[in-house]
Amino acid sequence: MSFAEVLLAQKTFPFEDLLFDVNAAKVESVLNKDKLSIEDLLVLLSDPAADYLEPMAQKAAAITRRHFGNVITLFTPLYISNYCTNRCTYCSFAHEHAINRKQLSFEEVEKEAIAISKTGIRHILVLTGEAPDKATFDYLRQSLSIIANHFSAIGIEVYPLTGGQYEELINAGYMDSLTIYQETYNEELYKTYHRGGPKENYFHRLETIERACRQRIRAVTIGALLGLDDLRREAFAVAHHALYLQKTFPDVEISLSFPRICPLVENFIPGVVVTDRQLVQLITAFRIMFPTLGITMTTRESARFRDNIMPLGITKVSAGVSTAVGGHIGKPSTTQFEIADHRSVSEMQRDLLANGFQPVMHDWNMKMSMC
Ligand code: SF4
Repeated sequence: MSFAEVLLAQKTFPFEDLLFDVNAAKVESVLNKDKLSIEDLLVLLSDPAADYLEPMAQKAAAITRRHFGNVITLFTPLYISNYCTNRCTYCSFAHEHAINRKQLSFEEVEKEAIAISKTGIRHILVLTGEAPDKATFDYLRQSLSIIANHFSAIGIEVYPLTGGQYEELINAGYMDSLTIYQETYNEELYKTYHRGGPKENYFHRLETIERACRQRIRAVTIGALLGLDDLRREAFAVAHHALYLQKTFPDVEISLSFPRICPLVENFIPGVVVTDRQLVQLITAFRIMFPTLGITMTTRESARFRDNIMPLGITKVSAGVSTAVGGHIGKPSTTQFEIADHRSVSEMQRDLLANGFQPVMHDWNMKMSMC
């Protein structure tokens, strides 16, 4: 059974009934459990559980330390092309926007890679928009082959590829992880936010992670873009997705990320506002439910928020970030969205150390794993 089929089966799940039925005693009972069910996760995401944020935070912090110690891995995104044929209503790179479009030449790819690697970062996340006629698969493969000379682990967050394409990149040692957010798991709402281009196809995107997992990818990151649909409904779908992937692909490292929308698009108003407290509740609930899953926190969040949430479940953070193509070599294009934490890699290392964490720049070498 694919995850799409699992999700369709959930359409009849008594989601509202379960949330309606929660009270303080139920929250306390869930907090006393060692292993949570998906119904328990909903209890921790409920309104009554908002009064238990402190014990939830304490439990999440203890679980995180037990499984991950004080280690936080650092990575930097590298945007190589912002051409895009999609019309995502929340994104400044959407096809209809008259922005400064740019695609790095191979020489520029190398310069960006060198500039980032000089900061000491060894884990990189390579991003493109979705314009396969412009940022072709050949362009992507060649760019990754250049980037692979400078980094020990490469994640990609590009347009959905075929299983064969993932296999080729993985076997060549040009990537070892994939990030794909479903944006919203609500199929109806998905159509209203994605109004053109190949990304319109909800199920093609949904099945992308599975295509990569079947090619024995090392790690994947999933999540929803918070602000598009009801927070608990999205959380419920993300949890189902994570459980499905854990069960179906036990050898693949699964991570979660919960980016809050921060668009640069004029007139775009998020459908839902997710407050800081709600995001803390969400992350601590997921950490309690999924003790061993990685959780990534991006620079969409402020330095203060990131520093505060770090001990409660975060395992990976970005630093030294530019969301523009060419952002590290001085000729940047339009940025995709506003970042809120502008700390450089060295500033991030300094602050992590000051807060009792061990910043890790290099904990994995995809080339060694191929020997
Ligand atoms: S979110 Fe991605 S696919 Fe959508 S418009 Fe922006 S760059 Fe293109």
